[in-house]
Amino acid sequence: MQEKGISEEEIFSDLEKFSAMDTNFKKVMSSMCTIPHPIAVKAHQLFIHANMGDPGLFVGTCEMEKQVVEMAATLLKHPNPAEAAGHLTSGGTESNIEAVYHMKARFFGDKDEDTCTYAGADVTTNTNTGTNVNASANANANPNVKLNLVVPATAHFSFEKIANMFNLQLRKADLDSSYRALPRSVESKIDENTIGIIGIAGNTEFGEMDPIGALSEIAQKHNLPLHIDAAFGGFVYPFLKDQNELNQFGFNLPGVTSVSMDPHKMGFSVIPAGIILFKDNSVLDDSLDKVKVKTPYLTSKYQSTLTGTRPGSAVAATYAVMKHLGREGYENNVAHCLDLTEHLFKKLIGIKLKPKYPAINILTVEVGGVQQTTHIRRLLREDYGWYVSETKNKVALRMVLMPHMTKEEIDQFVLDLKYILENADLECTCC
Ligand code: PLP
Repeated sequence: MQEKGISEEEIFSDLEKFSAMDTNFKKVMSSMCTIPHPIAVKAHQLFIHANMGDPGLFVGTCEMEKQVVEMAATLLKHPNPAEAAGHLTSGGTESNIEAVYHMKARFFGDKDEDTCTYAGADVTTNTNTGTNVNASANANANPNVKLNLVVPATAHFSFEKIANMFNLQLRKADLDSSYRALPRSVESKIDENTIGIIGIAGNTEFGEMDPIGALSEIAQKHNLPLHIDAAFGGFVYPFLKDQNELNQFGFNLPGVTSVSMDPHKMGFSVIPAGIILFKDNSVLDDSLDKVKVKTPYLTSKYQSTLTGTRPGSAVAATYAVMKHLGREGYENNVAHCLDLTEHLFKKLIGIKLKPKYPAINILTVEVGGVQQTTHIRRLLREDYGWYVSETKNKVALRMVLMPHMTKEEIDQFVLDLKYILENADLECTCC
């Protein structure tokens, strides 16, 4: 750091340079984020100082957070939204971590007050929630037993971090031909060391939703918590005009215990803004006491959130944009993104490609083998400025059609892709 500070003018001249190096989202079809709504930006600025980690100082912001949680629970078909528990996080990763943190705490025994680790002794059955006492006893009897988490093979990479963090084995369930988890495969992965099940509503690669109804039944049958990762789909699926059995999910399904959904993706809020929702306090009965810590220096008595300081500005931004857009605004936004997706789908067919029929506003298309796909993605980026990504569960280019895209840009993208396919040396081995 330099000895003396520099002027505001110089700073902003620097900032402009850095900002010019960043994307303005033009030609970006690889991101699940977009430009936040102006209302969210304005609200964000007003609450820039508010710290949700010290709630007694920011009573108003806490009230907003409560209302955001209730609105989200309503969207997720909660039978009694005011009973939902939850809070804002930095996004899908943190929300997923919290969900699994609770799963592991629920599974394990009581916390050792001295060491603050889970001792694993004295596990008792909670007859209300029916903690899997045999499983706990087995795992506790042998500390070398590795606990496991059952996820669909399409699970976001945040679950790999989670597995490392909590020393879990990730058991990946097989998929059907639409890249949705196969319930029988999910069930076959469960054993006495399983701490919970993950379902996805809007998987990262294809936007597909797992059969949450079937997963809910499996979770109930095995008395396991079921977390739904709706980081992307949480602000898409509830707003589809065509609501049918296959595209609905939420707390109306009795096995669903928690959901993550991100306002900073399709919710038009600022970065970082995620939401973790738990059905109600009863699903936390066997974990909350083990997760929460005393907070002697703060206005609260306890904290159970993963992070301490949390941005009230993200709460305000999310509250503002959810209130401002309302259900109708989000429905229009989703309809707009689906229209863009359909436009791209038809254009790709027009150049003789066979895109996968999209579930929501994520489109994948096969353009060759692994090397060729990577090569085409690079050419699109380096020669034409397009950002697209690649899928791993199937070798394909992947495009996310966010609100910042236009049909004119999509037309240009397809022309550029066509040119590459017709003219580039696709035998390249550099990738
Ligand atoms: N879950 C899903 C389904 C996602 O698509 C993503 C991000 O793309 C995440 C979790 C992680 O979200 P974040 O990057 O906000 O932590």
